[in-house]
Amino acid sequence: MGIYSQSLSKELDTLKSSTNFYPTQYQLDNVREINHNYLLEQFQNPEPILDQVRDLIKRGDYTLGEVVDEFERVFSEQCGAAFGIGVGSGTDALFLALKATGIGQGDEVITTPYTFYATISAIVRTGAKPVFVDIGKDYNINAERIPDAITQQTKAIMPVHWSGNPCDVIKIKDISEHYKIPIIADACHAIGATYDSRKIGEFADISCFSLHPLKNLNVWGDGGVMITDNVAIADNVMKLRNHGLVDRDTCERFAYNSRLDSLQAIVANYLIKHQLQQTTDGRVYNAAYLDERLKEIEEVKIPDRNPLKKHVFHLYMGEFKHRDELKAYLLKHDIDAKVHYPIPMHLQPAARFLNHRVGDFPMAERIANNCLSLPVHEFLNRIQLDRMINTIKDFYQKV
Ligand SMILES: *Cc1c(COP(=O)(O)O)cnc(C)c1O
Repeated sequence: MGIYSQSLSKELDTLKSSTNFYPTQYQLDNVREINHNYLLEQFQNPEPILDQVRDLIKRGDYTLGEVVDEFERVFSEQCGAAFGIGVGSGTDALFLALKATGIGQGDEVITTPYTFYATISAIVRTGAKPVFVDIGKDYNINAERIPDAITQQTKAIMPVHWSGNPCDVIKIKDISEHYKIPIIADACHAIGATYDSRKIGEFADISCFSLHPLKNLNVWGDGGVMITDNVAIADNVMKLRNHGLVDRDTCERFAYNSRLDSLQAIVANYLIKHQLQQTTDGRVYNAAYLDERLKEIEEVKIPDRNPLKKHVFHLYMGEFKHRDELKAYLLKHDIDAKVHYPIPMHLQPAARFLNHRVGDFPMAERIANNCLSLPVHEFLNRIQLDRMINTIKDFYQKV
């Protein structure tokens, strides 16, 4: 006390509230009658998890403990992959997957301009250049256009299974095999997604998942996991995530600290066993109902569904006329509609060095300008979904 002058402490307060906007965000996320956020409902009875946390305290193996091994085994088995490797976040899974593949300065990675920032930051932080290919009508990278973007420098294709909807996995795999360029998939939205009953992980060299609290398999903080069948990549990532150590006293390559906490693995193990199926089924069920009912509204355009693809609806999205006004109207009626996301990657301030401009990726821009995400989680009931639909109808009757 007394170290900081009053003016400095005021500056600290301002800095904190501008750089850490989460405390305010969290408050807003829980107040509405129909929320995106369902964490309070989901963890209403945390006792079975807390029991295991008490055991963890007795063991003391807080990072990469035995429960992390167990999680990696269970997760990789569920995905039909040889290896599952737990890391610090979904972002780190993407970054370390690229690093383990040897990608860096001078290389190019093909990806989508319509994604979350982390897909692009993972590429940029390796020193490689993100090369964008516009999306198609399903909001995923337009596979037809990938070959046009391939150069001598292309070292990976990083598609995103956006909102939990599998990309055009067959076409992308054909391209990958033809040009001998690996696929490192951003599957952060897509735990449980399948194509023609095959797990989406089967169609990529590496798939990366996020365990963030708002993702379909969610822990009590940050966490990520990647799967691969490639021994060399798995070996590489396991070293990269843990200071490049091969044993306690030998560092093979100066690397990173990006380990999955045992606490998070406890939560993930519990949810995989007791809840993930229900989470996925609930979302799919609610989405089917929304699909059916939203057809009645002319101003709403939901993407066509491909019956071969199992979309796990991390997000339920569509194009909505007068999007911003509708969003405000829904919020006013206690329904938490969100925009994921209003500015595509190529138009972000951070992407200035890539010299893109408005019009470069028209489909990504169109979706960014018109999209809205509606709550779809498994704790929503029919009455709430109907209220959401009726509120949207009311809005369009008024405009
Ligand atoms: C959430 C997310 C990530 C990053 O995952 P974190 O675990 O939050 O680091 C990457 N890509 C996409 C598409 C995401 O939605």
